[in-house]
Amino acid sequence: MTDDCLFCRIIAGEIPSTEVYSDDVFYAFRDINPGAPTHVLVVPRKHIPKITAAEPADAALLGKLILTANKVAEQEGLCDKGFRYVINCDAWGGQMVFHLHLHILGGRKMDWPPG
Ligand code: 5GP
Ligand code: ZN
Repeated sequence: MTDDCLFCRIIAGEIPSTEVYSDDVFYAFRDINPGAPTHVLVVPRKHIPKITAAEPADAALLGKLILTANKVAEQEGLCDKGFRYVINCDAWGGQMVFHLHLHILGGRKMDWPPG
């Protein structure tokens, strides 16, 4: 838990969120400003500031992040038509919250390349 981190505070329940999935390692909740009809953030409970801050010891966690997102995508009914995963990193990647998270976007056709 990092006190000044928004997502640590959401995970701790200090800031309300709409839960989609929860286990010992991950918490998933709806994005407050959805970019698609379905927009879920899958967040490791461990505070890793960004994807490039992950270390070799986090390899299993990173694998589980994708498998957990797959579970959430299935649960959200996105797997028939398809969906998109996004991990933003640093300024040019558009990262605003510095606690690693994977966006699941679905419910409409996605544009490519992204803006
Ligand atoms: P980033 O740009 O860091 O990849 O994504 C951060 C995401 O967190 C944004 O899509 C933003 O809408 C979402 N977000 C920011 N503050 C909150 C909040 O307080 N609650 C929830 N549920 N989502 C938030
Ligand atoms: Zn954090």
